[in-house]
Amino acid sequence: MPVLVMKFGGTSVANLDRIRRAAKRVGVEVAKGYDVIVIVSAMSGKTNELVGWVNETSPLYDAREYDAVVSSGENVTAGLMALTLQEMDIPARSWQGWQVPVQTTSAHASARIEDIPPANIEAKFAEGMRVAVVAGFQGVSPEGRITTLGRGGSDTTAVAFAAAFKAERCDIYTDVDGVYTTDPRISSKARKLDKIAFEEMLELASLGAKVLQTRSVELAMRYKVKLRVLSSFEEQSDEAGTLVCDEEEVMENRPVSGIAYSRDEAKMTLISVADRPGIAAAIFGPLSEAGINVDMIIQNIAEDGRTDMTFSCPTEQVARAEKAMEEAKTSGTINYHNLVADTDVAKVSAVGIGMRSQSGVAATMFKTLSDEGINIKVIATSEIKISVLIDRKYMELAVQALHDAFELEKAA
Ligand code: ADP
Ligand code: ASP
Ligand code: MG
Repeated sequence: MPVLVMKFGGTSVANLDRIRRAAKRVGVEVAKGYDVIVIVSAMSGKTNELVGWVNETSPLYDAREYDAVVSSGENVTAGLMALTLQEMDIPARSWQGWQVPVQTTSAHASARIEDIPPANIEAKFAEGMRVAVVAGFQGVSPEGRITTLGRGGSDTTAVAFAAAFKAERCDIYTDVDGVYTTDPRISSKARKLDKIAFEEMLELASLGAKVLQTRSVELAMRYKVKLRVLSSFEEQSDEAGTLVCDEEEVMENRPVSGIAYSRDEAKMTLISVADRPGIAAAIFGPLSEAGINVDMIIQNIAEDGRTDMTFSCPTEQVARAEKAMEEAKTSGTINYHNLVADTDVAKVSAVGIGMRSQSGVAATMFKTLSDEGINIKVIATSEIKISVLIDRKYMELAVQALHDAFELEKAA
């Protein structure tokens, strides 16, 4: 029988009533003749609560135990979803990651899926099971320890299952009815897109649009998974939501397709480092080894052989970045006057494959921010995106102004 993957995010399984509603959606697809793999998140707020408990117990926690704790939210919803389906006379059972098994790397808290052997679940489908309810976000390491895939990781579980089982489609059910031109919580003028290209979705996700985890988009692109985002709160047709697809399938030709933001950025400046060959390697090598996700970088003009180096990284990694720099200073590989961390910044980005062929996007972006009196602290560009770092207090204003400037309220 054809296989369908359906993923329900935290708000879609937030309580027993919501789980029943999601189960009804699953029932509709089962009735159409699909064998269904349901991927569930923890109930909304649960993972945050578990992370909080870990941090309170042990600030510099053992990541293996962090994973043991934070993966547990999904176990509860998987069992409850299986029970709900059984109550509807649909043969279903739950699977934790290790039971499938979802084999991952040992990078605790940000593990990558390496393989999902389909044999165990396929054997149960052959015996008459119609729905496999899998706990998202979790897997098992080569050492046999429970791992998690990073926040938002159930999206990645879903796409990885769709690839492993050659599913006809991977439907991501969430609390919005698709991918919008920007976060609808920030701008009431945000418009739902019927289709979005993989490359654009990848940039939007990595620049902060939480609607899909970045890695899930990467996997969908690589394994050609038909990926759809839709709402679990409304009745849905087969055409509902947003289809994430190849560039050729998207007919629109706007320079900008969406505006993303990330609140959790910090701007770090190393004051007065030696301006010499190898200085960037001496700074960013240790940062990379410490697992810091450096995004934007600027090196100022040198004066008297000294310069300042600025980079951005997630706010939660500031302490680790400071430690890595102090260690490099102590060991003598770099020398700097001091390290200034500005954690009151946010990153706002415009994304669009149309930028490749249309000029003037950067100019429009800078003029728009300037008209609003917003100072740009750092700029980074790639072929299909322009990002700026600004004071966090202007973040929403910047998103709305850019949404207006690129006339995204006319998108569809
Ligand atoms: P789930 O719990 O279902 O995984 P998430 O909270 O992870 O849901 O993702 C959905 C949220 O992503 C939406 O509620 C919305 O606020 C946010 N979001 C950010 N950017 C966008 C965007 N461009 N389009 C749609 N939603 C977005
Ligand atoms: N429950 C996990 C989180 O909140 C994974 C997910 O929902 O995708 O990050
Ligand atoms: Mg999510």
